[in-house]
Amino acid sequence: MMRLFEQLVPTATWLRMAEKATREGLRAFRINDDRRAWAVTSHSQDGVAYEVTILDGDLLCSCRGSAFHPYCKHRALVLRELGVLTPDVTHSPLVPNRVRAAV
Ligand SMILES: [Zn+2]
Repeated sequence: MMRLFEQLVPTATWLRMAEKATREGLRAFRINDDRRAWAVTSHSQDGVAYEVTILDGDLLCSCRGSAFHPYCKHRALVLRELGVLTPDVTHSPLVPNRVRAAV
C-alpha cells in the first residue's frame, strides 16, 4: 500500500512537508542508530514522538494523520534526513529505490 503512496505523492509535496516540519522545530532521531527506524517529535503534543519505519522501501508512520493521508511531516523529515529529498527531483514522484538505496 505504501509503495503505491510513494509513487502518488510528488516529491514537491514531501519537500513542502519537510519544510513545515523544520519550521515547527520537529526533530528526527534514529532508534538504536538504525537508518530504518526513527522517532520524530510531535508538534501538537509535548513529550510525544511518532515512529517512522522503513520496511522494504515502504515508509510508515504511527501518527494519526497517516491513517488518512499518504504523507506526513514526520515521514517527510525522515526523507530529508536520509538525503533523498533534493530539489532536482521536484517534478517527479519519489522513487522507492532512492529510499532503499539511502538506508
Ligand atoms: Zn506522521
